Amino acid sequence: MWVDTPPEDRQAELRKVMRLLEGLGRTQLGEVVHEHITRMLHEREAMHEETERALSGMLRLVLDALSLQLPEDSRLYAEIKLLQLRLTPPFTPSELITLHEFVERCADRIAGLDKLPSSQVEEAVFQLLPGLGLSGATRSPPSPERSVVEQGGKTTSPGPDPYLQRWQAEARELDMDKLSARVSQLVQAPSRSPSFIDEELSHSISRTEEFGAWLEIQLANLRQVDDETDFEQRKAAVIRQLEGVLEAHRQISSHFSHMLQTLETLQRDSERLSEELNRMTLLSLTDELTGLPNRRAFTQRLRDEISRVQRYGQPLTVAIMDLDRFKSINDEFGHGQGDSVLSRYAQEVLTVFRQHDMVARYGGEEFAVILPNTEADGARRALQKARAVTRRQSLRVGKAELPLPTFSAGVAVYHPGESADTLLKRADDALYRAKEAGRNCIELA
Ligand code: GH3
Ligand code: MG
Ligand code: MG
Repeated sequence: MWVDTPPEDRQAELRKVMRLLEGLGRTQLGEVVHEHITRMLHEREAMHEETERALSGMLRLVLDALSLQLPEDSRLYAEIKLLQLRLTPPFTPSELITLHEFVERCADRIAGLDKLPSSQVEEAVFQLLPGLGLSGATRSPPSPERSVVEQGGKTTSPGPDPYLQRWQAEARELDMDKLSARVSQLVQAPSRSPSFIDEELSHSISRTEEFGAWLEIQLANLRQVDDETDFEQRKAAVIRQLEGVLEAHRQISSHFSHMLQTLETLQRDSERLSEELNRMTLLSLTDELTGLPNRRAFTQRLRDEISRVQRYGQPLTVAIMDLDRFKSINDEFGHGQGDSVLSRYAQEVLTVFRQHDMVARYGGEEFAVILPNTEADGARRALQKARAVTRRQSLRVGKAELPLPTFSAGVAVYHPGESADTLLKRADDALYRAKEAGRNCIELA
């Protein structure tokens, strides 16, 4: 319907002919022929473009007439307005195909159109004339852009603004289901949330800015009108379009409140998670029965202390304490009483150590102590204090008073450069020697 050859092909053809002619231009006679043909070709190309422009004018006219038959909020209406925005020659092959398909789809409606207003027909025919090589014809003065169109006795206001139409179509496409799906993705991948919000916000801000610009144009137009009817019509158009703007803003704000709710839920979840994480971390470092730090917490702290000692060179001592003949308490009074002995040790005996010391449950009936900034003598004195406390403590079992068991201890002072494992091994060996020596005593590594 439009042209036989797409514009790219035509330009390629033209370039080919021009190359062939270049050789000809080198002789005197050839130069004249060359000039003549070149001019003819340029004229032909210009004429082709003019024809295309005229045809696109015609098509725009037909689409205008078609859009008058449609409700402004219909999908086809928005499609037509978007298509009109793209109607600028020269057309690419894909644009021609789209146009062709669209016109075919609308063929029935076009056939059923009312008679077109004469002013529109004149406008279209006038655009065609230069393309057909007929220029200089007189015409009636051009109607203002977006003229008022008479149709079936009813007067319609100026045509809908193409920008607004595009925007409204876009706003109608704000699909809450799609949004919810995106939000669910967000919940599954919370780390993506900042960029997601940025996108939504900047999109909304740019839309609002575009609206501001659009409203300014409308205001300027309103200031220029001098005819009262025209004023009323433009006012009505602005009000209608503002309603569209408001509706779209309502959609955006519901969009954001939904997002806000989701973010609040996310934040609550994340706070719960971090509390849970803290709780788990604490649990993983604490002994359930005695409430003391466990062996894992002890070795972590010991490594920290060792690296501090390596930097600042202060003394560091560790002690491992093992309750003497503890098994017999279990055997004689039951496991529950054994547990009570361990708890009592934690609450009453091991509290004699300084605040900077760290006492941990190292194993079944073994406790370990880190004594920062303490030499062997200091450690020995602290352990003796603990022993003194055990002597004063007893556990009531039925009517009987069960004395707390004694403990044996191995003490090791840190040697520069050694690892935590080596230090502990030396303390353990000393403990073994204390047991060998008859228990209830302290051995230095
Ligand atoms: P020694 O003086 O040689 O250390 O003798 P012992 O009986 O203390 O040492 P042994 O290693 O023979 O026994 C330790 C006992 O401690 C055996 C084990 O059942 C008990 N035990 C370990 N953990 C717990 C606990 O959490 N609660 C109770 N009640 N008993 C425990
Ligand atoms: Mg033991
Ligand atoms: Mg023991």
